Amino acid sequence: MKFKIAKKLPLHYQIIIALFLGALFGGLFNAERDGISVIIEKDGTTVKKEIDKVVELKIFLLDSSGKKKTLLKKFAINAVSGAAKYFERLKPEEKSRAVVEITSASKKRLVFYSPLALEKNKTLPMYLKPVGDIFVRLLSLLAIPLVIASLIVGASSLKNVKELGSIGAKTLLIYIATTAIAITIGLAAANLIEPGKRMDEKTKAALKAEYSNGETVRTEALRIDVVNFFVETVPKNPFKAIAEGKMLQIVFFSVLFGSALIFVEKDKAKKVIDFFDGVSSTMIKIVEGVMKLAPYGVFALVGATLAAFGFGAAGALIWYILVVVLALAIHLFVVYPVLLKLLAKRSPKSFFKGVRDAQVLAFSVSSSAAALPVTFECVEKNLGISKRVSSFVLPLGATINMDGTALYQGVAAVFIAQVYGMDLNLSQQLTVILTAVLASIGTAPAPGVGIIMLVMILQAINVPAEGIALIIGVDRILDMLRTSVNVTGDATVAAIIDRSDSRQNEVV
Ligand code: ASP
Repeated sequence: MKFKIAKKLPLHYQIIIALFLGALFGGLFNAERDGISVIIEKDGTTVKKEIDKVVELKIFLLDSSGKKKTLLKKFAINAVSGAAKYFERLKPEEKSRAVVEITSASKKRLVFYSPLALEKNKTLPMYLKPVGDIFVRLLSLLAIPLVIASLIVGASSLKNVKELGSIGAKTLLIYIATTAIAITIGLAAANLIEPGKRMDEKTKAALKAEYSNGETVRTEALRIDVVNFFVETVPKNPFKAIAEGKMLQIVFFSVLFGSALIFVEKDKAKKVIDFFDGVSSTMIKIVEGVMKLAPYGVFALVGATLAAFGFGAAGALIWYILVVVLALAIHLFVVYPVLLKLLAKRSPKSFFKGVRDAQVLAFSVSSSAAALPVTFECVEKNLGISKRVSSFVLPLGATINMDGTALYQGVAAVFIAQVYGMDLNLSQQLTVILTAVLASIGTAPAPGVGIIMLVMILQAINVPAEGIALIIGVDRILDMLRTSVNVTGDATVAAIIDRSDSRQNEVV
């Protein structure tokens, strides 16, 4: 009997429960508490020494005589993953001269000569990650065929190029406007609450030291070049764009292809459109199957992420996290409902109920592209938005509309500037708005891309790009939240365009 009740539980409740259980599970088995493993060679075999509760880890380098050692780097508590990555990057010759000294909570000091590797200890939830990875891969593999097929069908179903131009222009305009509103909220919150000024000097120094060498901070070749940005949107070879997952190029090609179909002889065009329509329906069918795995995938992903999450870093960055979360909440629960009421004439409550699967999924997978197939389902089935609108607006939105990302970039830029003791003037803040709009268009809808694009924004306002080292430790968790907002933004705009489209059709 009980089994029957459990079976009846609707899928979205199962997913939400999986999310909470995953968070709990991951939090309980957090790896930072468990410390590090040192891999050494002993009598010709490799041995793994696990050390719990690391308090301090020092890496020294012996000189060629093997007598004198110099300190290379010191890692404090909660920096074990940084230490492992740092060690991995040492040259083989340096590794052979390395000495690792670890002090654990029991005050025991252990010394290892020439270890082969350092590994962050895996805890139970981290072993489940492959389950989550398979789930994300299954969703991601659907994204590109779905974007292509639905954009081609969407663009070709418009009556003429004028209609395409009008829907296209409206969609772009609203996407850009909502993104600009989002960044403004982020900037306002960061300027009012001043999270960067609430951090003491010691914490600032510790954060910079912990992450600057442990994580890749790619700062080169990310300067803004607007002209090049547009040039790069046009693919030289659409198949290469598809193979490399260049979303903007894929969108460009698909819209071009779909609009060209408007001019092709009716029965010839019909065959092509029917084909892509079939592709899109097939993808949706696969989504329905994949979503049956969602509770397991979500549990594994959220569990593994929280198990690896550095709660220590979160403590120091609490004000920054709070500002991002507060600003995201304002955008989500104030701006979208107002837009939905005023422009889409919809009840925000039923809208949120309709899109929650997409939101929860976006949160779990941190990728608008992987969540896209489910966003389609929610928008068409639960919200009743016409296919002709959703098939055009959603793929475009997943690629170029990132309200959550832009908002987060605004907060992060001000926060980093504040930590470096810089006050951004009005023109710098305007530059942040402009560059963040551009950056969010160019941000690939995949996990962690927002922070890479942040480098571009920091460079535009002359704030040290290394500053992203400060916030990288908590980025993953904020990525989950901002991706949820990104996806909600796409669905909101789809609702607005649907309303204006149906009104226009009534008039006609
Ligand atoms: N993960 C985000 C998305 O896919 C992009 C980002 O902000 O990193 O929407």
